[in-house]
Amino acid sequence: MEEIPYSGIREIFSECNRLERMGEDIVHLEIGRPDFDTPSPIKQAAVDAIEEGHVHYTSNYGIRPLREQIAAKFESDNGITYSPDDEVIVTAGASEAVFISMMAMVDPGAEVLIPDPCWTYAPSVRAAGGTPVRYPLDPENDFQPDIEALESQISDDTALLILNSPQNPTGSVIDDDHLRAIRDLVVENDIYVLSDEIYEKIIYDESEHRSPASLTGMYDRTITINGVSKAYSMTGWRVGYIGAPKELADVLLRMRQYTTTCAPSISQHAALRALQGDLYEPLVEAFSDRRTLVCERMDDIPGMTAPEPEGAIYAYPTVPDVGMDGREFAWSLLQDAGVALVPGDVFGSNSDRIRIAYSNSLDRIDTAFDRIEEWVETRQRSEIEGDL
Ligand code: PMP
Repeated sequence: MEEIPYSGIREIFSECNRLERMGEDIVHLEIGRPDFDTPSPIKQAAVDAIEEGHVHYTSNYGIRPLREQIAAKFESDNGITYSPDDEVIVTAGASEAVFISMMAMVDPGAEVLIPDPCWTYAPSVRAAGGTPVRYPLDPENDFQPDIEALESQISDDTALLILNSPQNPTGSVIDDDHLRAIRDLVVENDIYVLSDEIYEKIIYDESEHRSPASLTGMYDRTITINGVSKAYSMTGWRVGYIGAPKELADVLLRMRQYTTTCAPSISQHAALRALQGDLYEPLVEAFSDRRTLVCERMDDIPGMTAPEPEGAIYAYPTVPDVGMDGREFAWSLLQDAGVALVPGDVFGSNSDRIRIAYSNSLDRIDTAFDRIEEWVETRQRSEIEGDL
C-alpha cells in the first residue's frame, strides 16, 4: 500500500470543504465530472426498472439488452465487432473496467506504459504488482504522444500500453498518424493495449475519435473501455463497459466475478436507455461553450497557455507568471482567491502546469477567471514593488 497514495485531488477537495465550512465562496474547477442532472428519460428508465422488480444480481456480463446495445454502438460508432454473447462486459464504472483489466493482464514485475500526464492508472498497475512506466505527451505538439520517447520506454517486460483519447487531463485527441505509429510499435513488440474512451462523445469542432481496436492488426490485442458516466452525466450510477475479443474477455470476466459481480441492475437499465439516443448532445454543446470561454480567458493571463482542448472537459495550461510551480499556485489560489483547480503533477511530471476542469457554469467560470486575473495582477505588482 506504500506504493498507492491518496489521490492528489482528494487533498484539494478536503481543503475546499474546510474553507466552505468557514463560509468561504469557492469556485470549483477541480471536479472531473459533468455537473448536469442526468437526462430525465434515463432517470425514468431506472424508476421503471425498480417498479418492474429488476432488483437482483444480473449476469456477470451484464443484462442482455444492454450488451446488445453496447455491441451495436461499438459497431456503428467505432467500426468494431464485439459479440454481445461473450465479448462485452458491463462494469461498475470505467474505473472497475480499468481495475479488472490490470488485475487480469498484468503479472508481477510486468511494465505498463501509461501517458505522462494521465488519469490515475498507476495505482491499479501497482495493485496488480506491475510497474507503471510513463511515456510523454508533447505539449509542443498538442499533447500527442512522443513516439520516439514511447519507443525508448518499451522493454522485454512491457505487457500493456494505455491510451486515453479524448484525454484527461490535457483534452487532447490522438490523431491518426500517431495512432498508426503506436499501432506499428505495439504490433512489432507484441504488446496489449487498453484504450480508455470514456470521453469519446465529448469532442469539439472537427476533431474525430477513432478506436484503436478498429485499426488493422489491433483487434486481437486491444481492450476497449467506455461508459456512460461522462457523456450522460451519470457518474453516480456506476456503469462502464468493456469490449474485448473473446480470448481476453474470458480472463477479464473471470476477474470480474470476484470484484463487484455485476454493475447495479437498476443502473444497467438506465444505461440501456442512455445508449438508445442522442441525449448527450446538449451536454456536449454546453461544454463546448465553456471550453471557448476558458480559452478566451486564459489568453488574457500572462504565462497561462495551453493547446486548445479538442475533447473531454479539461484544459491543462502552464502556471501564470507569478514565480510558482503548479502545486504552490493551486494552493495559494485556493487560499487567497477561493478558486479550486488541480496541480499538474497530480497527473504526472508536469509540475509547471495545472488542470482546469470546466465542469461549472459559464457564470462561475467567469467569476473564477476574474479572481485569477486579479490575483495574478496583485502578485505581479507586489513582486515588482518588492524588486524596487
Ligand atoms: N477514465 C478517465 C480518463 C476518467 O477521467 C475517469 C473519471 N474521472 C474514468 C476513467 C472513470 O470513470 P467512471 O465514472 O466510469 O468510473
